[in-house]
Amino acid sequence: MYLSRYICCRDPVMLSFLSLQMQEEDTPKMKYRRSSHWRAKQHYCPKCQRGFTLKSNMNRHVKFECGFEPRYKCPYCCLRSKQTSQIYSHIRKKHPGHKVSVVNVENIE
Ligand SMILES: [Zn+2]
Ligand SMILES: [Zn+2]
Repeated sequence: MYLSRYICCRDPVMLSFLSLQMQEEDTPKMKYRRSSHWRAKQHYCPKCQRGFTLKSNMNRHVKFECGFEPRYKCPYCCLRSKQTSQIYSHIRKKHPGHKVSVVNVENIE
């Protein structure tokens, strides 16, 4: 028993077989992780360099989002924002006593 263990541990063929197995286990995972990371964002907006995973998402961004005027407007002054919540907090701060509402610019023009 002692003899067979001694041979097994010192056997160069056995050792190389073990190290080969370890390499095969590690390599595909690392390759997959690296390639999926590389694939994460392939499409970039030519105007603002924002990255997108899908080309369709980038096209939608370029068509409807990028470089567009903010569509929400304060009804009491000329402030505009892309988010209604910003208009709401603006009205509470700058126009106290006024009704808190938002004008959708797209519906007017
Ligand atoms: Zn953009
Ligand atoms: Zn205002």
